[in-house]
Amino acid sequence: MTITEREFARQMDREDPLRDFRDRFYIPTAADGEEVIYFCGNSLGLQPKTTSDYLNRELERWAKKGVEGHFDGPDGWYGYHELLSESLAEVVGARPSEVVAMNSLTTNLHLLMVSFYRPTKKRFKIMIEGGAFPSDRYAVQSQANFHGFSPDEAIVELTPREGESLLRRSDILQAIEDEGEQLALIMLGGVNYYTGQFFELEKITEAGHAVGAKVGFDLAHAAGNVPLRLHDWGPDFAAWCNYKYLNSGPGAVSGIFVHERHGNAPELPRFAGWWGVDPEGRFEMKPNFEPQTGAAGWQLSNAPILSMAALRASTEIFMEAGMERLRQKSEKLTAYLVSLIDQLPQSSFEVITPDDPDHRGCQVSILAHHDSQGLYDRLTEANVVCDYRRPDVIRLAPVPLYNTFEDVWRFWEILAESV
Ligand SMILES: *Cc1c(COP(=O)(O)O)cnc(C)c1O
Repeated sequence: MTITEREFARQMDREDPLRDFRDRFYIPTAADGEEVIYFCGNSLGLQPKTTSDYLNRELERWAKKGVEGHFDGPDGWYGYHELLSESLAEVVGARPSEVVAMNSLTTNLHLLMVSFYRPTKKRFKIMIEGGAFPSDRYAVQSQANFHGFSPDEAIVELTPREGESLLRRSDILQAIEDEGEQLALIMLGGVNYYTGQFFELEKITEAGHAVGAKVGFDLAHAAGNVPLRLHDWGPDFAAWCNYKYLNSGPGAVSGIFVHERHGNAPELPRFAGWWGVDPEGRFEMKPNFEPQTGAAGWQLSNAPILSMAALRASTEIFMEAGMERLRQKSEKLTAYLVSLIDQLPQSSFEVITPDDPDHRGCQVSILAHHDSQGLYDRLTEANVVCDYRRPDVIRLAPVPLYNTFEDVWRFWEILAESV
């Protein structure tokens, strides 16, 4: 049997140890009632069927107990964020005390830069990807401005070489070395949202620290997608959103990581709020802020329980599936998609995502050489949910939790007719 036969995909699905997880999610349907091919889990992950139970539990608690819900047993709202520490730590390869769920992603990037972007006259530059996500770009520009530096001088952008789509690994490390003692902060995406390139976070961290810079990662496209070992790799901080691969609903509460080495550093400047203090003494209403240890010391406000309940529903599924098994399936599913695409004549488009599975997650970006809008429209009409990023990239994310090999095959058949 060859990979271009539908039966091949069906056989792969039968052999997939995670095949039953698809049933745990609501799969959107098209107007004709048929399930769409959902390749947009990198933008908004699908809803687990258990999410409503988790939300209803908290709505009911609120209805029946009112304010007493805060101290209603071991999962009362007062310590609710702690219920997420183990699983979030597992997702990003951290210790439970190094992570906490709070706020939203861009907010968290700012709060973490308050602590870890401390520019001086000599050391003031921030390194980002040339094609960084706009919100990240605005965040670093405004941080530079806030400290009195012109973004034009302070922001260093990594751009691929002329005629190339990806950043070469050695070029990134060289650029860090070149900026040397002017570099205050490296803030890169773990996986670039446009190309799907998964950067070598450990080496980048090492190179950044070697020149005396702080290193932070935006893991929006990495968390729940690629294997991460943040504690061992040693960046100073990271933040991610939980509504993409982590399936916790639109605008879901974000996650942060602060490395243990900063976990007990009350002298670090930070914007403070009452949820950052030791929960035992919180109601003593002390006049001065003393942060609790760990990432939890960066919290400002009491937790958005409904959003966190949705995150619990989702992380529960991740823990059951296991990060390792998910990655194994993800590598197969993505490789299958790429191999099928390789069967098509590549005159009108090319895959720009790295070939090497160690340098990508499940996202595959196709660069269309002409009429990318037309290609996208034809895919959409055929019930493929993917996205189009200007100027000419179509992003596809076969997600191992709920996408099947047959989804990939069906997509390929449609693509073959569309190009
Ligand atoms: C999705 C995404 C965001 C979105 O930021 P929010 O604050 O959650 O709206 C920011 N940065 C990157 C890299 C993203 O992929």
